[in-house]
Order: sequence, then C-alpha cells, then structure tokens
Amino acid sequence: MEVTSITNGIIIDHVPAGTALTVLEYLSIDPATTRLALIMNASSRRYGSKDIIKIEDAESVDLDVLGFVARQATVDIVRGGRITRKMTPNLPEHIVNVITCVNPRCVTTTERGIRQRFHLVHSGRQEYRCDYCDEEAKL
Ligand SMILES: [Zn+2]
Repeated sequence: MEVTSITNGIIIDHVPAGTALTVLEYLSIDPATTRLALIMNASSRRYGSKDIIKIEDAESVDLDVLGFVARQATVDIVRGGRITRKMTPNLPEHIVNVITCVNPRCVTTTERGIRQRFHLVHSGRQEYRCDYCDEEAKL
C-alpha cells in the first residue's frame, strides 16, 4: 500500500483497529492543527487489522501515554524520510491527567483542581489504580 510519507516525526504502528482517533485524543494531539496521516483498518499479519498514525514533528508526543492507551503499538522514529529507530512504548509507572477516576466518592471527583493520578500495580495484567482511592483505571 502506498501511503503519505513523513520526513521527520513518528509512525505509530499496530494501533488497535478503529482506535486511532481515541489514541490521538489521549495523546492530546489535535488532528485539526497537526500534520498527520491516519490509516485506519489496514491489514495486519499479526492482528488481522490495525490503525497506523503518522505524525510530522512529533517532539511533544508523550510516548508513556501511548504505552498506556495502545499497549500493542510500536513506534518508528523517522528522520530525513527514513526510519532511524524502532521502539515499543513502555508501560508507564505513573499516569497523570490522562484518564479520570470513576469512583464517585474519590477525592478527585468530589473536589476540584486535583490531578488525576494512577499508578501501575500489576504490569502483567496492565492494571492501574487511582493514587487516592485505589479504584482500578478504566479506559
Ligand atoms: Zn480515585
């Protein structure tokens, strides 16, 4: 498949099919103001189908957040039109202000201006819990 190429930026590959827009939202990337290319429901040998996100000038993209929202994703770093490095995002130990606690009694729900903080409790199960009330994180 011939796709639009980027010169300097990143290619996020193996994004779960149909979730590219959600992933962009969690990464705080505004598709209206960012130079990017989305390929949705591309065929994938590994997963059947997948989404691919290509972002030009991606210095500010938080790859820790990517590890949390798209755990199977891989990242290609592109410099001068060529892939110079391939990496897998880490499962971050802490995530701050990415998701909100669903516990209605949590201090982050009842009080304003408190940062939403979650920590990894089990990397095998990829389980995160709220720093304040221990509620399990849900995407
Ligand atoms: Zn909580």
